[in-house]
Parts: sequence; C-alpha cells; structure tokens
Amino acid sequence: MPADNTPAQALGHASGSFAPGTSAPGSFASAATRPGPPLWLLAELTYRCPLHCVFCYNPVDFARQEQELSTDDWIRVLREGRALGAVQCGFSGGEPLVRDDLEILVAEARKLGYYTNLLTSGVGLNTKRAQALKDAGLDHVQLSFQDSTREMNDFLSHTKTFELKQRVAQLIKGQGWPMVMNVVIHRMNIDHIDRIIGMAAELGAEYLELANTQYYSWAYENREHLLPTRDQLRQAEATTDAWRQRLGDRMRLFFVAPDWHEGRPKRCCNGWGSTFLNIAPDGTALPCHTARMLPGLSFPSVRETSLRDIWFDSEGFNRYRGTGWMKEPCVSCEHKDRDLGGCRCQAFMLAGDAAAADPVCEKSPHHAQVRDAVDAADHPAAVPVKPIIFRDRTQSLAVSARPLP
Ligand code: SF4
Ligand code: SF4
Repeated sequence: MPADNTPAQALGHASGSFAPGTSAPGSFASAATRPGPPLWLLAELTYRCPLHCVFCYNPVDFARQEQELSTDDWIRVLREGRALGAVQCGFSGGEPLVRDDLEILVAEARKLGYYTNLLTSGVGLNTKRAQALKDAGLDHVQLSFQDSTREMNDFLSHTKTFELKQRVAQLIKGQGWPMVMNVVIHRMNIDHIDRIIGMAAELGAEYLELANTQYYSWAYENREHLLPTRDQLRQAEATTDAWRQRLGDRMRLFFVAPDWHEGRPKRCCNGWGSTFLNIAPDGTALPCHTARMLPGLSFPSVRETSLRDIWFDSEGFNRYRGTGWMKEPCVSCEHKDRDLGGCRCQAFMLAGDAAAADPVCEKSPHHAQVRDAVDAADHPAAVPVKPIIFRDRTQSLAVSARPLP
C-alpha cells in the first residue's frame, strides 16, 4: 500500500475535519458542525471465507447474517460514496475473492476515481483473476499471512494455505502491484517476528504491517490464548527496530502497538463517524467493523437509506461523534480530544456500557480487567480456561446464542 494512501494516513488527513467537542448526539443542525466526508469507504463484500482464523475480526454472529448486497446495490453504494467525498475504497470480507463480481466492482470504483485496495487471504487469486483485477484497475493488494511457518500459519487459519500464500505473493509482484503484507501478531507467533520480517523481505513486500491483535470478535473469544507477555512484546519491538535499521527504505515496517498493554486507549477508526465508513455484506452501514454489537443503537441499511443521510443524519453515526456524549472520567480528562475516549465496543464488552471510558485506559474504573488479563499472560501458571475456537459457522451460531454480558 503506498505510503500516501494507507488507511492510517487517509484517516490522518481527516483528523481535523471534525472538531471534537462541537458535537452532540442527534442530527447535525448546521454546516459548521457537520463532519467532513467519509474519506475511507470499506466494502465488506461478504463474510464468507475459506479460512477459520482464531483472531478473525468479523462479527462472531456472522453466520446469522447471510444476505449479501447485489452487484447493482454495491455499484450504487460506490457511486454514492464517491459523491460524498470518499477517496479510497477497500474491498474486504471475509474473503472478497469469493464474489465473482469483484472485478466489476473494482472497475466501477476505479472509473469513479477511487484509489482501490483488495484485502485478501490470497485464496482464490489465480493468474487469470489477478490479470482481470489488474485490467479492472486495482491499485494495490494487501495479503495476509498468519505466520512465517507452515505449521503455525495452517494451524491458526485451520487450512493448508501457507504455500498458496507464497505463490499469491509472487503473483502480486508479477502484476506490478505494491504489496502490503499483513500479519496479526499475538502470543503464538510473536516469537517468530524475526522470521516473519525476513519472509516479507524475501517475498518482496514493500510494506509489512505487524498488527498486534485487537481484542474484538473472535480474538476476544480467544484472548487467553492470544495475549502476549510484556517481555514478548518488548523483544518483538526491539527485533522490528533492528530490521528497520537493516532494511532502510527497502521495506517499511508498521508495528501496531497493542492497546491492552499500553494502558492508553486509541481513537477508534480515527474517531466515530469522522472518516471511516464500513458497509457490511448485508448493506448495514457502520462507523467501525464491530459497532453492530452495541445495544440500543440502530444502523441504517444502504438498501433503504442514502449514504448521505446515513453519514450526516443517522442516529447510529451521530451517537458517539466528538466528545459531547462522554461521561466521567473522560469529560474532564485532558486527553479526551486525543483519544476520544477510546473504543466504544471495548467499553461495552468490558464495562457493559458503550458510553464508558475504554477500559484499556488506566483511569477507567474497569481497567483492572485489562490489567489482570495482561498480568495473567505474564504469569507462567496462567492456563487458558477455555479451549481455543476457530471461526466457523457452527461456532458462530453457538457463540451468538449466548446471552449478552
Ligand atoms: S481473519 Fe481469517 S477467517 Fe477472518 S476474514 Fe480474514 S482470512 Fe478470513
Ligand atoms: S479518561 Fe477517557 S479521555 Fe481520558 S485518557 Fe482515559 S479514555 Fe481517554
């Protein structure tokens, strides 16, 4: 992914477009308080995926959401998003290559003037489709690996896909696309980070994102298995820094720090409804991947509501914009404009209140849950109490049948 087009940087461009503190729940009354455009449109084309990753970010109840937008619906969404000011369009999933209209959608997005990304596990990307996507104008591909070893890659995804991913990496290079390699980092692969970076360099990746696990969805279910120790993290950061020195400009390394270990929350998607617009496979528009879990909050569907109305006027997108919704300790905190209170989904999952301070924050009254979990990961006697679960339809139905916390 070119540096000037990374989602993070696209988000950064907009960070001043919505003035924190000027908003309140409800509709925006005047142009002066309206948010800027959704610069980054993510089209989650499907939740279907051949892989079963233990840290998958798709909602745990994905099996209950089987309806997918049609090609025509997606084309309308792309047009409305571009008219609204979106400049980057990601095609994601699940595995977006399971949709046989992907090339049509990429061509439409490119024609509209979006910078286009494909976020893929690599499964389904053969020579013919790679050429068709190139012809459609696809700008870049982000390829995920689970690890640098076949054993761990295939264990974590519950598939035999390691060699296939290596071949796909060569296909991507062969088409001349800039390649971002993405590896979700956690307790089970963090000690391989030296080899992971080496593998990315050998495969010719221009960018490597070492994304420490965010504990939502399937990763939240498996967090006792995934939380690394503090020592593991320190070592991984040192190894990454050493590689940065060695590689220079040949490959850029992004080490996405884990908020559970830092005691400092992060802005969720650069701020709720500030820049990022996610369209779920069934057409539900969301300010982040997992916001649908929040009770008492409705999110419109693009089937019934225009993107403009959704972005500016829907209750779901306005509820947590800015800082007007905050409670203590956030209201009087000097950091509130920096992190906007952190993640609403994390607040709901851990504090049972989506308007609470994100419990990864040391000032949160619920922070002990996070600190205890990190302490437990550090302790050799910490034995996971639940078996690890893989993302699949059966588990999805079982997990989503549980009562809410
Ligand atoms: S994280 Fe794994 S299971 Fe989830 S969509 Fe990506 S490749 Fe598929
Ligand atoms: S109290 Fe709230 S605003 Fe302050 S650092 Fe914590 S989460 Fe952020």
